[in-house]
Amino acid sequence: MNSAPHVPFLDLVTPHQELESELVQVFRATLGTAGFIGGPMVEEFERAFAGFCDTSYCIGTSNGTDALTMALIAAEVKPGDAVITVPNTFIATVEAISHAGGVPKFVDVDERTYNVDVEKLREFVKTKCVVDGGSGRLITYDDRRPVTAIVPVHLYGQMADMDAICDLADKYNMIVVEDACQAHGAEYFSRKTGRWMKAGSIGRAAAFSFYPGKNLGACGEAGAVTTNDSNVAAKVRMLRDHGQAKKYYHDLEGYNGRLDALQAGILSLKLKHVPRWNECRRSHAQKYNELFAGMSAAVGTPYEPSWSKAVYHLYVVRVEDREAVQASLARESIGTGIHYPIPLHLQKAYAGLGYRSGDLPVSEALATQILSLPMFPQMTLLQQARVANNLFKRTGSKVLEAGAMGR
Ligand SMILES: *Cc1c(COP(=O)(O)O)cnc(C)c1O
Repeated sequence: MNSAPHVPFLDLVTPHQELESELVQVFRATLGTAGFIGGPMVEEFERAFAGFCDTSYCIGTSNGTDALTMALIAAEVKPGDAVITVPNTFIATVEAISHAGGVPKFVDVDERTYNVDVEKLREFVKTKCVVDGGSGRLITYDDRRPVTAIVPVHLYGQMADMDAICDLADKYNMIVVEDACQAHGAEYFSRKTGRWMKAGSIGRAAAFSFYPGKNLGACGEAGAVTTNDSNVAAKVRMLRDHGQAKKYYHDLEGYNGRLDALQAGILSLKLKHVPRWNECRRSHAQKYNELFAGMSAAVGTPYEPSWSKAVYHLYVVRVEDREAVQASLARESIGTGIHYPIPLHLQKAYAGLGYRSGDLPVSEALATQILSLPMFPQMTLLQQARVANNLFKRTGSKVLEAGAMGR
């Protein structure tokens, strides 16, 4: 009895069909010059994306993971340094820390925002670190490493509490590098500056991913670093191009980490639509919240503090009995995801870091309850109603008719 229309978790086909003729023009223009790597299309996108993020600089890169790695190196994280981040993120956050030579130290997240818990960050500093008398810098208590950086992750499109994070970082001379890979256009009201600030504009540097499914996605792999620091910008520019500022004169050892022209052209084109797409996502999130309001005990909806304007890369709810709920939605042809099923400190890849189950209880509990519902700009009210109705059914609450939900 699967006659009901499919609700995909994410529809990447429709937006590309809508933009097809413009996208083809970008490809034609690239073929016309054969300027596939670097060049004016990349520079144009970098200017536009820096403008979008309210930053002085944007440096296009091969992907978000490389962007974060190079941002950390350029911000002067040194091999052997301890770098603080959270365990409930995509593995790329921690891969980048390791690739930059850092050693990840996990701090648990806030029960409501799912982003780093600033109280636990302070507690980490107080109980797991000592302050070096000479430099005033933090040293980890157990493995005696200088703690030089914090990587807050703006998970699901909502920014972490940056004022509190930056205050603590300033106090101990730590660098803040934002993982903004899910947060293109997200905003944070900074009580320090008295204004709304864009994701990617607050830390020393930030990394963005343009993986196809992100709020701004390429037709392939792409990423960027944003920063207001000219030294960091210059260093990332060199790092992404084998450490050279002039061809074959390598001042340092770098990477093949460039953004190609075709992707840059596509990103410039799509960037114009991102503010509208983000508004659609926000309004879909609002609608989901309304649909779930009557069943708040059974479905935990996302929490958006007054200082946050989230862009809902993902709309994540908490449910008991998650596997059964996901399976029953799948039977109704409703796509869902889990971001992420295993916190990083418990992944095999990081067994060597020595964490154990129970060390980061909020992240561990979340991993068993979170469920990402369908979320994409082109989603219809009818599709949202189908998702809600099936969740209602599953959790035993009242089933509403789509027609009864107005608009
Ligand atoms: C997507 C993502 C990345 C990595 O980006 P890629 O472009 O896939 O390399 C890093 N961190 C987070 C939180 C992400 O969601």
